[in-house]
Amino acid sequence: MSSLYERFEQVFMPNYGVPPVALARGEGARVWDVEGREYLDFIAGIAVVSLGHAHPALVEAVSKQVATIAHTSNLFLHEPEVLLAERLTGLLGAPARVFFANSGTEANEAAYKLAVKYGKRTGRSYFVAAENGFHGRTIGALSLSGKKSIRDQFGPFPVDVRFVPYGDADALKEAVTGDCAVVFLEPTQGEAGVVPPPDGYLAAAREICDATGALLVADEIQSAIGRTGHWFAHQADGFTPDILTLAKGLGGGLPIGACVGFGEAGTLFEKGDHGSTFGGNPVSCAAALAVLDNVDLGHVNEVAARLRGGLESIAHPLLKGVRGRGLWLAAVLAEPVSGKVQKAAQDAGFLVNAVQPDAVRIAPPLVVTAGQVDAFTAAFPNILTEASQ
Ligand SMILES: *Cc1c(COP(=O)(O)O)cnc(C)c1O
Repeated sequence: MSSLYERFEQVFMPNYGVPPVALARGEGARVWDVEGREYLDFIAGIAVVSLGHAHPALVEAVSKQVATIAHTSNLFLHEPEVLLAERLTGLLGAPARVFFANSGTEANEAAYKLAVKYGKRTGRSYFVAAENGFHGRTIGALSLSGKKSIRDQFGPFPVDVRFVPYGDADALKEAVTGDCAVVFLEPTQGEAGVVPPPDGYLAAAREICDATGALLVADEIQSAIGRTGHWFAHQADGFTPDILTLAKGLGGGLPIGACVGFGEAGTLFEKGDHGSTFGGNPVSCAAALAVLDNVDLGHVNEVAARLRGGLESIAHPLLKGVRGRGLWLAAVLAEPVSGKVQKAAQDAGFLVNAVQPDAVRIAPPLVVTAGQVDAFTAAFPNILTEASQ
């Protein structure tokens, strides 16, 4: 019998390559592969598994919901979606309206279509986004993603998107004129390697959009739902976007995305303008409610400080620095050997992600314990040494 890896390679399109570990089950921040080997999961399904694996509250909420009603479509409404939209707008603390999708890229497609509507209504012709930004893989979201290697071969795209260097407020100011409909930004760039902007950049972006009338979209698909130690990263950056997109951590592992429009941006869609058969289905909404009930920001901030402190106290020639926010960090390497660090970590029993050649992404479940954090930071110097060989 051939291995799961060989069978995967036979039946899957080659877009992912063959992943290095076949996971079988998990509990909290611990996971086991199909051979029964245990790992500490310090990537959490790309910042998705907020409550850790198999959290009892999530299991109960999802099991109960699937045994009650799993799907209604948008032809009928259901209580979990209303509760979830109310909870999100309550946490945001500003008048807002929600559209539920199934994923991050779909949340951004909704934002993109809102921006198209706004552009047509106000006679604006182009969008602005950031170099190295990532907004998803469907055509609209891809056209906003500032990474040529994943974008250009699938163009041309329907809207003129102009890219600016992330973190450069002057460049943004120059790029955004009264003819610009929307600015799409991540409050910290995730796929670029967990890169926070300089202080004041996002407030400057808000000012630039206010001055020109462009909408500001905060793509918080990776940064929200406690990941940075706040419900939403922008809350710590002192600005409110016009449109906010969410996904990854919101469902704790169940697929859900959300596009939130503040004020007038919440009423740009008219009846019939957009839709999704599965978006905001009862099971995913029940999961998201369980996530919002059980994320403990106090705990996140405590273990985040411990993780950061532990990593920052490591003196190793391969470790150039640590950047990021909350439980969402990158170990920045002196050499482009993140793949080797990922592999050495795996061999030592830790799952991390080589997000960029010189950056290792560290994003454990928000329930990771102090002891698990200590185990990781204690093992990391040897992992770096292994990777240097
Ligand atoms: C992951 C991600 C997306 C895309 O989400 P999918 O669910 O993979 O479609 C979009 N924007 C950001 C910032 C992300 O991190």
